[in-house]
Amino acid sequence: SEFEPTDINQLIKEYVNLAFHGMRAGKSPINVKIDYQLEEEIQAIPLKQEDFSRVILNLCNNAFDAMRELNNDFPNNKREPALKISSRKDGPWITIEVEDNGPGIPEEIKDKILQPFFTTKKGTQGTGLGLSISSDIIKQHNGSITIDSKEGHFTKFIIKIPGN
Ligand code: ADP
Ligand code: MG
Repeated sequence: SEFEPTDINQLIKEYVNLAFHGMRAGKSPINVKIDYQLEEEIQAIPLKQEDFSRVILNLCNNAFDAMRELNNDFPNNKREPALKISSRKDGPWITIEVEDNGPGIPEEIKDKILQPFFTTKKGTQGTGLGLSISSDIIKQHNGSITIDSKEGHFTKFIIKIPGN
């Protein structure tokens, strides 16, 4: 797709919602609290909307997968599945973060998860392509995608793209 001036907060809300409702309508729905922290004054930025929306979908779907076990344990373990999505202007950059409070990513595999076909999901559940495609799409936007995670606590994907 082509770059078009885009209200990124609007796109985020639309596709997080789509991912959420898709997951809820799917085979193993979970309860998850969705927490938006979107900075209001972000101006329209050039995005390949169709591609960028896939990144949002991929990250949300990974987060839902990761929180499935939490969901099954709740309220026993007192940790309610939660997805936090934020946007903010950071000098010339726009930063978007997608964070879940699932099991985190073991240090040994952090370097591998962006590679094509790397998956820890069993059988046909995972293709291992979501993050590699997402990473390509972010590169096409001259941006970067990085991972912050603490095992047993959280996983956060941090996307930075040029603001204009
Ligand atoms: P797939 O979802 O098909 O496995 P991805 O490229 O989307 O492929 O993700 C690759 C791997 O990265 C996953 O199998 C999982 O091990 C890990 N991963 C991705 N997102 C998360 C997350 N939010 N929490 C924990 N692990 C994750
Ligand atoms: Mg995936």
